[in-house]
Amino acid sequence: RDHQVKQQISLLDQASQFYREQLRSANTRDKAIQYLQQRGLSGQIASQFQIGYAPAGWDNLIQHFSDQKDATSLLEKAGMVIHNEEKNRHYDRFRDRIMFPIRDMRGRVIAFGGRVLGDDKPKYLNSPETDTFHKSRELYGLYEARQSNRQLNRLLIVEGYMDVVGLAQNGITWAVATLGTATTEQHLIRLFKLVPELIFCFDGDQAGRKAALRALDIALPALQDGKSVRFLFLPEGEDPDSLIRQEGQSAFEQRILNATPLSTFFFNNLSEGFNLDSMDDRARLASTALPPIRSMQPGLLQQMMLDRVSEITGLSAEQLASLINLHKISQP
Ligand code: ATP
Ligand code: MN
Ligand code: MN
Ligand code: MN
Repeated sequence: RDHQVKQQISLLDQASQFYREQLRSANTRDKAIQYLQQRGLSGQIASQFQIGYAPAGWDNLIQHFSDQKDATSLLEKAGMVIHNEEKNRHYDRFRDRIMFPIRDMRGRVIAFGGRVLGDDKPKYLNSPETDTFHKSRELYGLYEARQSNRQLNRLLIVEGYMDVVGLAQNGITWAVATLGTATTEQHLIRLFKLVPELIFCFDGDQAGRKAALRALDIALPALQDGKSVRFLFLPEGEDPDSLIRQEGQSAFEQRILNATPLSTFFFNNLSEGFNLDSMDDRARLASTALPPIRSMQPGLLQQMMLDRVSEITGLSAEQLASLINLHKISQP
């Protein structure tokens, strides 16, 4: 198994080199380079992220490996080649796409994301889950962020490849993206081992706001004293890449400074739709607030959030605490 993993890693590394080489030598390289330029990326950033190009065609990658024994089936295992059972044919998964290699913490390529150059669908394609690639654990850009920063104090969590790369292009070198999946508890546990502060910055649209609410749920149990989570909400229709290109690094950094603390987001969101003059609504608010607060680790923030619920509802903090069994009752 160990051998297989090594073989797969080596294969993916060679694939990544092939895609980068295609950016220089494919006869359609111009449109790929033009696309990257049009997205505002310099050659330096493209090479830092090892961005490449998979030209159009069914089997460029397969052909590239044709002199290696069993390469096609290894490529299939690595998620790079698809087997059409009916026609019993193999073909490249990624065709006519800009290629973003996904690297693990050690810098080894473990998967790819590929973007079409135009408006075709699907816009992005990711490698499937393999022995070496687990979407719910990995984050795009983490290796690069650690490389670019002697010391990382915080990480910005964004939605997409282009957000990570576009931010880096504009001087914000500490963004990471989840890979087309929602943020998971595993992601947060992993990131909190590296930095004390996480800032979520999802797209300014319905899906982004939904993702923020989900991230809030996931973040509550992952928080500990000394760690913090904030939320940066973007103007409607913008994402980090589009916004930083528009307004530049320092305006974007100002937004980061003003990002909403988790507890503020929690209470803003909580009080929506409740009429606090009504006792019934205050009770309903308390019962909505308690389960998520209960999911938190015991600590200062949990206590302070309970105090806040107490202020809002008029229930005493002790009553609230006993409602969620915060303090084990030790008296006989
Ligand atoms: P663009 O290159 O147009 O700026 P984006 O990075 O803003 O794209 P979004 O459409 O906002 O992309 O999606 C965010 C992320 O979600 C993408 O980077 C990609 O990881 C994932 N994603 C988007 N569309 C798809 C898709 N059709 N299939 C799989 N993953 C997708
Ligand atoms: Mn096969
Ligand atoms: Mn975008
Ligand atoms: Mn986007």
